[in-house]
Amino acid sequence: MPSFLTHNFSELPEEFYTFQDWQGFDNPKIIIENHAMKKMLGMEDTDHQELLKIFNGVKKIDSLKPLSMVYSGHQFGQYVEQLGDGRGLLFAQINSNEGLLDIHLKGAGKTPYSRFGDGRAVLRSTIREYLCGEAMHALSIPTSRALMIIGSDEMVVREKSESAAMLVRTAKTHIRFGSFEYFHYNNKPEHVKALADFCINSYPQYFSRTTNAYEDFFRVIVKETANMIAHWQACGFNHGVMNTDNMSILGETFDYGPYGFMEDYNPNHVCNHSDHQGRYAFKNQPYIGLWNCSALGHALSSLISEESQGKILQTYEAIFQDTLAELYRKKLGLELAKPEDATLIQGLLDIMESEKLDYTNTFRNLTQALAEEHSPELHSEISKSWVVSFLERHSKETLSKDKRLKLMNQVNPKFILRNYMAQEAIEAAEVNDFSMLETLMIVITQPFEELIEHEKFANKSPIWAKDIEISCSS
Ligand code: AMP
Ligand code: MG
Repeated sequence: MPSFLTHNFSELPEEFYTFQDWQGFDNPKIIIENHAMKKMLGMEDTDHQELLKIFNGVKKIDSLKPLSMVYSGHQFGQYVEQLGDGRGLLFAQINSNEGLLDIHLKGAGKTPYSRFGDGRAVLRSTIREYLCGEAMHALSIPTSRALMIIGSDEMVVREKSESAAMLVRTAKTHIRFGSFEYFHYNNKPEHVKALADFCINSYPQYFSRTTNAYEDFFRVIVKETANMIAHWQACGFNHGVMNTDNMSILGETFDYGPYGFMEDYNPNHVCNHSDHQGRYAFKNQPYIGLWNCSALGHALSSLISEESQGKILQTYEAIFQDTLAELYRKKLGLELAKPEDATLIQGLLDIMESEKLDYTNTFRNLTQALAEEHSPELHSEISKSWVVSFLERHSKETLSKDKRLKLMNQVNPKFILRNYMAQEAIEAAEVNDFSMLETLMIVITQPFEELIEHEKFANKSPIWAKDIEISCSS
């Protein structure tokens, strides 16, 4: 039996959550389980049928007190008074070799925060979330990750009728920007303080009780957010629903919905079909990250003066820019920082945009330009003058060319999770064929390997995939 711990969030007053039993499925089945995650949680010897019984609620662990958390948040810029875990449940905490992790069930039935929802998640969205967590993790981007998906024969209605499923998710925290906003806008400064104190005490790897503890707390959140979004930009990840209720205070990517990895480079790309204004377009993500931090700052205004908030928010841009510049330098295989690097990278992005080049493959193929110092294929796509500047810039590096080439292949993925890949896995899983899902797991968890036998997944998406529309419904 895994050693689940009662979540310490339950030590907070009951205004923060509702203790909650959950609704398992009548005929549950395991769609996929994450062996790497099981190992990390010391569960490698736990039989999956036992886990299924535990998470489906058949085998109760009496000591645990699962709860649904309350929060609110700004959705597409508008404040929404009450959200909360409408279909989620904070099940327990567990020790891992990376510290304490939350175990959360998504799609576990109705809660007091369900509003008009049915409390369920659909198989489609749980598969998308499962795959993306693993893909992001393999790219070294902070993220929640899933432990398993439990499928059912229960049907629920979205745009059409779909099968319901439950995602067993892990994350360092499920406390969101919106958790603070809820108490701030309900005029409960004592609860804002209690929550900040709780975070400072619970996440010592991030926060500490300094003399300016709340300022420092906010400073760390701003830093982690800027860092997370710099990583998104570098790998071409578009989150799609950067509402403040989907922003973790520890800067982990989570609540995957209509996300997408950019294919043809287009800074105006909007992956969420429901985002008509393009608020969460790829190029807006850095600004929205800052906007969300300032919304959090506002929610902390009983603890931090406006002046201090302003100063802390001002740190965001430099952290974001410096992190992104460093990530881009690495993608170009450059170890040293030179003043001309910004122009070099912008030059490449401009070419990618005007030539509609695949973001992932263009970076991956840059090694050819460096290795051969002449690549007919690449030269036809990328202007000769850019390649000349690229090679000229490389001549200033001190590391051997072989090492630079190796480093480039360790940061520029060959494989990303293209929407059509997830779509194929979903369509197969809906008729009980999980082989595609398993194959994709092999590919996306080794994004930097050559994997010749899976070469086709490194290609641009097929034409039919252009019609896939990803909406918020999940
Ligand atoms: P999301 O778009 O998944 O981040 O969800 C936004 C809010 O809607 C959260 O409070 C969710 O808990 C809630 N929600 C989304 N889908 C459902 C559902 N099917 N049933 C109940 N609540 C839901
Ligand atoms: Mg959410």
